[in-house]
Amino acid sequence: GAYSHRAEVPGRDEIAQLAQEFNSLTDRLQTTENARRRFVSDASHELKTPLAAIRLLTDSILQTENIDRETAREFVTDIGQEAERLSRITEDLLRLTRLDSNVLERPVVVDALPVLEQVMRMMSLVAQEKGTELTYRAEGTCTMLATRDEIHQIIYNLTDNAVKYTPPGSTVQVSLFREGDQVVLTVEDNGAGIPEEDLPRIFERFYRVDKARSRAAGGTGLGLAIVRDTVEKRGGTVEAANRPGGGAVFTVRWPWREGGGQT
Ligand code: ADP
Repeated sequence: GAYSHRAEVPGRDEIAQLAQEFNSLTDRLQTTENARRRFVSDASHELKTPLAAIRLLTDSILQTENIDRETAREFVTDIGQEAERLSRITEDLLRLTRLDSNVLERPVVVDALPVLEQVMRMMSLVAQEKGTELTYRAEGTCTMLATRDEIHQIIYNLTDNAVKYTPPGSTVQVSLFREGDQVVLTVEDNGAGIPEEDLPRIFERFYRVDKARSRAAGGTGLGLAIVRDTVEKRGGTVEAANRPGGGAVFTVRWPWREGGGQT
């Protein structure tokens, strides 16, 4: 690999210890480098798929003589959908690169409740269309150090998934509350849940349980990676589990921060 140089210094003196430190740093650099490479390669692959579809559809239109209006319209609609997919992927990629760059917006004390209400207003329309029952409850002063957009993104991604990956007629319950020195958000659904063997990996970039299903639902495979990175940047945690009665539950915890004062 790029960082293959190793310092071999036997013994237990300071130089030997330095050599060990050097080696472990090298290993970490190599791991980071490998992850970065895989990310770039996965991202290119994800972008290639809709691009290939667009080219195929364009060629079909151009090569079909006397194409009728209806058929042309169908093809162009498909091209539009692939273009939309491309813009979703690039938006998510940009978000992740921004999170990687460590250039963060200055956090403020945000009350998560109005943000939750805003996301619920928007998502209830999506849920309604699918015949999914979306409910939410909130209690306590749920203030934390973050930005409104970050909290919006987290609640949106988790709720969108819950609606997306459950059959019509399901229920999705979102809760926001304070627990000791933490603000807790849970998003629960009563769908099929997530296979136990996939649970440890679903926060990885581009990891999906069912690729075809994710694509069909308009997923990019980056939603949960964005959630995790965003939460962790603000000192929080996120975890996924299956509910005993069936369905998935996602739990986000942020350090609670007293409201009112400025930062
Ligand atoms: P995607 O864009 O595919 O939705 P995410 O990173 O948001 O990507 O989610 C990763 C995968 O986790 C999804 O493809 C899906 O297989 C699984 N998943 C996420 N949320 C749920 C849920 N509420 N129920 C079942 N599976 C889920």
